[in-house]
Amino acid sequence: MPDATTDLARASDSASHRYDAIIIGAGIAGMYQLYRLRQLGLSICVFETGSGVGGTWYWNRYPGARFDSESYTYGFSFSDELLQEWNWSEHFAAHPETLQYLNYVANKFDLRRDIQFNSRVDTATFDDTDMHWDVKLDTGERFAARFLITAIGPLSADTLPRLPGVESFRGQSFHTYRWPHEPVDFAGKRVAVIGTGATGVQVIQTIAHQVSQLTVFQRTPNWCTPLNNRPITDDEQRKIKSSYPELFERLRQTPGCYIHDADPRGTFEVTQEEREAFWEQRYGEPGFGIWQANFRDMLTDPKANALFSDFIARKIRQRVQDSVVAEMLIPKCHGFGTRRVPQETGYYEAFNLPHVKLVDLKATPIERITETGIRTSDAEYDFDMIIYATGFDAITGAFDRIDFRGTGGQRLKDKWADGPKTYLGLQSAGFPNMLTIVGPHNASTRCNIPRCIEQNVDWVTGLIRHASDRGYTRFEPTPSAEADWTRHIDELADGLLYAKIDSWATGINTNVEGKTVRRILQYQGGAPAYRARCDAVASEGYAGMDLR
Ligand code: NAP
Repeated sequence: MPDATTDLARASDSASHRYDAIIIGAGIAGMYQLYRLRQLGLSICVFETGSGVGGTWYWNRYPGARFDSESYTYGFSFSDELLQEWNWSEHFAAHPETLQYLNYVANKFDLRRDIQFNSRVDTATFDDTDMHWDVKLDTGERFAARFLITAIGPLSADTLPRLPGVESFRGQSFHTYRWPHEPVDFAGKRVAVIGTGATGVQVIQTIAHQVSQLTVFQRTPNWCTPLNNRPITDDEQRKIKSSYPELFERLRQTPGCYIHDADPRGTFEVTQEEREAFWEQRYGEPGFGIWQANFRDMLTDPKANALFSDFIARKIRQRVQDSVVAEMLIPKCHGFGTRRVPQETGYYEAFNLPHVKLVDLKATPIERITETGIRTSDAEYDFDMIIYATGFDAITGAFDRIDFRGTGGQRLKDKWADGPKTYLGLQSAGFPNMLTIVGPHNASTRCNIPRCIEQNVDWVTGLIRHASDRGYTRFEPTPSAEADWTRHIDELADGLLYAKIDSWATGINTNVEGKTVRRILQYQGGAPAYRARCDAVASEGYAGMDLR
């Protein structure tokens, strides 16, 4: 490696420390990026807002948080030793185990010595004269680095409802992302949950049996399917450990890097009996197979989608005793799988409990949060606790919360105001030497995320090695390569049913100013095609990029 630090010593007198690379975030992406860049012999600092590693698993400590991907497909794949050492206890591990795992990884690879915790990055400004990033924390401390890598997560900018009175409630209130580290006691409490996405579903089914009264405020119901979780037996553990190479090879072949892959048949190519039997089988199987391994046209053909949605609606009607409540829980405005499918364990049965009530916010909207509870258009409710499972300003929100300034002082937030513009979802023109792991427009946000994180990180590491070996100190995509990639992103979403539906995946968040227009934020071509494209760019000497 050329000695980047010498240049930077001259360049940034005002920065208190200088590094070759700064990584923002010590979640799965930041941890692995640190590990890989160390292998290049770089000096690195990771800034992490939290007081520990784990990112999403550090923050989301809400009751019921657990994997929706099979545990053994989710862990890091880069170390055989780690794979053999770690025993997952369940097919879909619960939050404490995942956080324990990530801490185990941090210890094993001595990652913490390069991570500065309790450090929120406020601004990052590119200095074109000396080609470095000037990074400022909210404490005012400044640091400089040649390369800036964001590992800030697609679902890390939590949002509270924009409702009057949110600050006025005198009981306990929590956003699920900001869940306290201390145990929360639900016994004897009257609890409200606002939100019925994947998070709300996990919370509701978990606390329903612990509270004295639970009121669920639902704006849009979701199509939820059984997780069918269970412990991993000793025999399964042995099989998993002996077949990791084949398992990871299989994950590389599927569009979302899950173990599930679409059935090659079309919905209408089989008889009604075969169809029903196939769907019954999927309903009884663990995990996302019902979404990812359904008939191949389920997410593109509206008729196929409607038929399968009807199958799930029948399941909901069978499981929920009160037919009025069942109808409230059946989505009417979007088809199955066009929004992220929450995986559940007894979610629908929770609504059969006498102390669980469902409020339809489309019929009776919340008017305000009061000092004692929630007022809707037709009732006043008193609570001891309000849980906001109200989600995130997804994918671009975490970028908006840091003031990134590129060449000429251009703000990334302004550049992306009408939607992100990127190259490979990993860079943006005018923001040299900045790399966005799990950024908008890359395959990772529609992926069993550690698998795509590893791909992103390996590619970024290859680029930095390439630049360093050849003495390049500055790289960025060309505007035309960026325009082509951004157009490609839009084209890939053509004909997909999800693109016509409001959700975080299409950039909608009614709690954030300006996030009411649907946008294509994700790469929809599948992880294998994305990986092939990234590999081709690299093997062509980083085609589409200006390296100096
Ligand atoms: P979400 O899917 O965006 O759900 C937010 C919920 O809050 C929705 O029901 C939304 O209603 C409601 N809401 C938001 N603002 C509201 C308001 N002002 N008034 C009333 N209701 C409001 O967020 P999430 O459930 O946190 O999940 C986000 C993503 O995190 C998931 O899709 C998934 O990718 C990931 N996740 C993963 C796991 C896992 O892997 N195990 C677990 C949990 C979450 P509308 O639908 O009407 O907007």
